Amino acid sequence: MNPSNLPPQQWPAEPRVTLGPWACEPPLDEESEAFRQSLRQFASKVMRPIGQELDRLSAEQVAAKGSRLYEFFAEYDKLGISQELLASLDDEQRAVMFPLLFEELGWGDAGLAISAATRMLPLYMAAKLGNSFVLKEYSEQLIGCWGITEPDHGSDSLDVSRQIFHAQGSYGRPNCVARISDGQLVINGQKSAWVSNGCIADLCVLYCAAETASGPDTQHGYCVVVPTNLPGVSRGRPLEKIGQRPLPQGELYFDNVKVSLDHILAGPDDYKRAVYAIHTDANLLMAATFTGVARSAYDHALAYAHERKQGGQPIIRHQDVARRLFHMLRKVEAAQALTRRVARFNNLSSVPALQAAMLAKVTATEHAFEVASDAIQMFGGNGLTREYPVEKIFRDARASMIEDGCNQILAIKGGYNLINQEWL
Ligand SMILES: Cc1cc2nc3c(=O)[nH]c(=O)nc-3n(C[C@H](O)[C@H](O)[C@H](O)COP(=O)(O)OP(=O)(O)OC[C@H]3O[C@@H](n4cnc5c(N)ncnc54)[C@H](O)[C@@H]3O)c2cc1C
Repeated sequence: MNPSNLPPQQWPAEPRVTLGPWACEPPLDEESEAFRQSLRQFASKVMRPIGQELDRLSAEQVAAKGSRLYEFFAEYDKLGISQELLASLDDEQRAVMFPLLFEELGWGDAGLAISAATRMLPLYMAAKLGNSFVLKEYSEQLIGCWGITEPDHGSDSLDVSRQIFHAQGSYGRPNCVARISDGQLVINGQKSAWVSNGCIADLCVLYCAAETASGPDTQHGYCVVVPTNLPGVSRGRPLEKIGQRPLPQGELYFDNVKVSLDHILAGPDDYKRAVYAIHTDANLLMAATFTGVARSAYDHALAYAHERKQGGQPIIRHQDVARRLFHMLRKVEAAQALTRRVARFNNLSSVPALQAAMLAKVTATEHAFEVASDAIQMFGGNGLTREYPVEKIFRDARASMIEDGCNQILAIKGGYNLINQEWL
């Protein structure tokens, strides 16, 4: 129908569209919408209060048994988001559920969202890389972590294809190595202080170099699940940091740790594939989580702009404030749209694209940081105080631009992929 033929009375005087969490998205089906609503409830009633409380504690206090972090894990388990449930979803359902889950968890609290996600990683990777022994042997209630970066190798360790290396550069010695001896994998060395959940983990999905007769091979290593109660494993002190403080982080040390070969998820020939797989999923997870963080900052700013009066009017009535909110919403929506599109592409294609996940991660984390900074500005002086929520969101968002690969490094890797037009 040609809209110009409509009688004038059918046009509302002022079109009104309510922008909810689904501003520019088609409505979800009933099941997905119910899932989203239960997550939103959980994020607002459980995650936000616990996250705000943990943010003010020392890193030691957060990690200590009995802290509210463990209450969060117990409540999260009640949601029933198990490995079994994830495995039962078809690709279409997973493409919708995955970003929904992490958007809502990120909206609740970034550090807790990452802690919950990392907790599942060893078993998630065992399922992904087809290790049924690990899936049968270990419970989902155990706390997991991912150890890949090392004191001397941060960006390097995420770049097994060596795309970011300087022409005259070399990897140097790895800080952690593994070798097969007498039918067991023997691990020595340490992982960086940045291992999320490292200082509280029961299980680590460890990525490390292979020790060979001709020296360590850092491109063909081992991906192995290591229980941290084995003799020779020790943990570092929880790390104090600027943001995502409810997420405990710390080193893992390995002193002649022996683990049966059943625990290996990928050996030297498959190592690159295993790094690619976890990096791709982790970057998408970051994108969804920090889309939620961006939306949380925007929601706070919008509500405040309606409440706070200056010049005799709620500040949202001032033209520049409305303009700024528009740009904040634009960034949230762009992050969400790209993240969901990549989630769909990566869940439905035969080889998920790291390139696409990096596009989404860099976009969402940078938008989250910008929107959180704009939210502080919207709150004026109040934005700088701990009495209001936005300074915490700003600190949480700042860390995300380094987490799971500095955004600059991801962009270099992504840029190099364009040379050969390889969208992997
Ligand atoms: C909140 C958070 C959670 C994390 N969780 C985990 C985890 O669970 N497990 C884990 O193993 N690690 C984890 N990390 C570590 C994270 O992956 C690393 O911090 C990240 O990869 C960067 O490494 P780096 O800190 O050693 O910095 P570096 O690699 O030392 O980089 C320092 C600077 O140099 C630049 N740079 C480095 N190489 C190049 C190059 N070739 N060209 C141009 N510039 C370069 C970088 O962009 C950066 O600005 C986490 C980090 C954070 C902040």
